[in-house]
Amino acid sequence: MIQGAKTILKNFGQISDVARRDKTEIAKYITKELAAPVSIEEQRLIISAKVNGDVINAKVKKYFESYVICKECHKPDTHVESSARGFLTIVCEACGARYTIKHY
Ligand SMILES: [Zn+2]
Repeated sequence: MIQGAKTILKNFGQISDVARRDKTEIAKYITKELAAPVSIEEQRLIISAKVNGDVINAKVKKYFESYVICKECHKPDTHVESSARGFLTIVCEACGARYTIKHY
């Protein structure tokens, strides 16, 4: 949803729930990918730029593919165990896989 010079992602809270990641973590990713400042307002993400909905959807999809969906079993039942030196350790609760990926 575009409002003036801002884009509002209304289902941001829902995205965060499904991803089981902190809103601030996802917001950090989106601000980097879009090179635009963002702020979290309860369940919504406010992006200080006009961004096409398709572009945001693609970024959210990419976030899931890179940081949420398990590399082994392709289920979204993962959590971040630790992050250090620019890397995240992802642990899958469905199949027990554990792997390290580069942080955004
Ligand atoms: Zn898995």
